[in-house]
Amino acid sequence: MKHIAGRKGVYALSKALGLPSMSTIRASKPLRLLPSFAAPKPAEIGANICTFFGPDSPNSKFPTSGHVLMIDGLHLSQRACWHRASNQILGLCREHSETLDLSMNNMDSVLKVVDAVHGEAPTCHYGREATVLAVGAFRNSNYHGVPIGQTQTCKSEKGPAFAALLRTAIEQWEVHGEPHNGPLFLVSTDGDSVFREGLFHVLMSQRHS
Ligand SMILES: [Zn+2]
Repeated sequence: MKHIAGRKGVYALSKALGLPSMSTIRASKPLRLLPSFAAPKPAEIGANICTFFGPDSPNSKFPTSGHVLMIDGLHLSQRACWHRASNQILGLCREHSETLDLSMNNMDSVLKVVDAVHGEAPTCHYGREATVLAVGAFRNSNYHGVPIGQTQTCKSEKGPAFAALLRTAIEQWEVHGEPHNGPLFLVSTDGDSVFREGLFHVLMSQRHS
């Protein structure tokens, strides 16, 4: 809004809609999503749930309700970058980076990563798509999706591997999110065939009478 209408436009909008002012936004520390550098670890997704849905988070101040876990893929520029907060290389695929040392602590490990991606026989790839996991509440306000995970894929993943990621996200929500916010009622993805197979493995595994 500031780029379109300038400071006065932001002021008018904040007054009209009851939004926080620019000075309030600047003074508050933004909550940051922790991305997954290789295959997503339970602790990474758990940390994000604690950040955005923990007992001190804005979301936990609302009455408990049902929630939906939404998963979709976003196209990525295929390149690596330095994640300053963790001093790790970000942007490689989750399927093939598990055995690589992605820390930026020494030149040897960095050169091994370069060889794995750009060598004569590549064993790892840049992420072509970011798989984003977000949770939204079933209520009449503050129901927007809030991310709890981001992980890169080279699109070689099969349904069982995606099912493992899905199970991890659900288990972490049950531990860190459900006590303060409410249960997951629904898991939602688009029609991607890998997503559909993963959902089948996780959500159709038990027969209820
Ligand atoms: Zn790959």
